[in-house]
Amino acid sequence: MNEGKAESERVHEVVIVGSGVAGLSAAVYAARADLEPLVLEGPEPGGQLTLTTDVENYLGFPEGVGGMELIQNGKEQAARFGAEFTHGTVENASLERRPYELELSTGEILRARALIVASGASARWVGADGEDELMGYGLSTCATCDGAFHRGDDVLVVGGGDSAMEEALFLAKFADSVTVVHRRDELRASEIMAERAREHEDVDFRWNTELEALHGSQADGVTGATLISHPEGHPTDKADAGLEVTRETVDVGGVFYGIGHTPNTDFLEDTGVERDESGYLHTRSDDADRVTTVTAVDGVFAAGDVADPRYRQAITAAGTGSMAALDAEAYLETLEHVETQPIEVSQ
Ligand SMILES: Cc1cc2nc3c(=O)[nH]c(=O)nc-3n(C[C@H](O)[C@H](O)[C@H](O)COP(=O)(O)OP(=O)(O)OC[C@H]3O[C@@H](n4cnc5c(N)ncnc54)[C@H](O)[C@@H]3O)c2cc1C
Repeated sequence: MNEGKAESERVHEVVIVGSGVAGLSAAVYAARADLEPLVLEGPEPGGQLTLTTDVENYLGFPEGVGGMELIQNGKEQAARFGAEFTHGTVENASLERRPYELELSTGEILRARALIVASGASARWVGADGEDELMGYGLSTCATCDGAFHRGDDVLVVGGGDSAMEEALFLAKFADSVTVVHRRDELRASEIMAERAREHEDVDFRWNTELEALHGSQADGVTGATLISHPEGHPTDKADAGLEVTRETVDVGGVFYGIGHTPNTDFLEDTGVERDESGYLHTRSDDADRVTTVTAVDGVFAAGDVADPRYRQAITAAGTGSMAALDAEAYLETLEHVETQPIEVSQ
């Protein structure tokens, strides 16, 4: 239908926003259903898994698999069935009328009859020296994913909220010691999580302290960290203001950031797609109360971490990616009959 048309005239059956595991899995399913999906790779082609070396918990790889390799294989698999890939980051979405329009950061407009949003949730980084080089090499944002690599290590967890407490408690199963580094002298975590962490014999706290630098190499992993402290907290701000701070370099075998994630959903602001207070997308249950990937706007589906503040795993992202493609396929079939109706935004 679109063959030979300029991009400005094309109407894609499905555009998939994001090329992480969720987007790729949706692309395999949508392409095999002859929907010729267009996948927008966004600012981080391949998504978060490209930040890690070994993935040991993805089904089907008894010896583990490299994050890059898993993504590259997924991309080839989707392309084999006809998925198209393009570098593009969505800035704005216009969902009031069909076909939907996506405005890219280049100003280009894409049009689609259905959208699968698989734009992920980016872990927040601290900004410490060395983190770009060592992310995935002893520095991680996911204890569930990488904790098992740190059996017998001394590790640091940065943060003071529930995410950090969860990471610390999980890591305490493997690590020799876990030290939570927090920039204030009290936790933001819920009382129950804070109490569990405080009472755990292998979890210690470094109050009024921040991570300034990571040491190590990609060959050796993280070997140490420089911590900066001030008795009144927020030591980096104090140092920037010229106040005296204490610096200490400690030997550690791993560092985990637990300062939360930011779902990449700004482009859906004011579109009718519901988000929670942190920006994660809401998906709906069907009439029989079963889980779906349907959002509040007909024809817009959500997959992967962008709608999942809880599990945030590659395998769950792949699972919901396939669900979104199946939901989109079913929706497009019904659309044949309602193409001229106004768009429904269910509240
Ligand atoms: C260091 C690290 C190690 C990990 N290790 C493991 C592990 O061992 N096992 C495991 O199961 N999980 C692991 N995870 C978690 C796993 O990577 C995520 O759960 C998974 O990548 C989520 O996939 P996703 O497709 O939902 O999102 P992401 O992988 O975050 O992909 C999001 C995609 O959306 C694109 N995007 C974002 N905004 C836009 C936009 N505006 N327009 C267009 N595109 C956009 C991005 O460019 C990217 O391609 C790890 C995560 C990290 C950070």
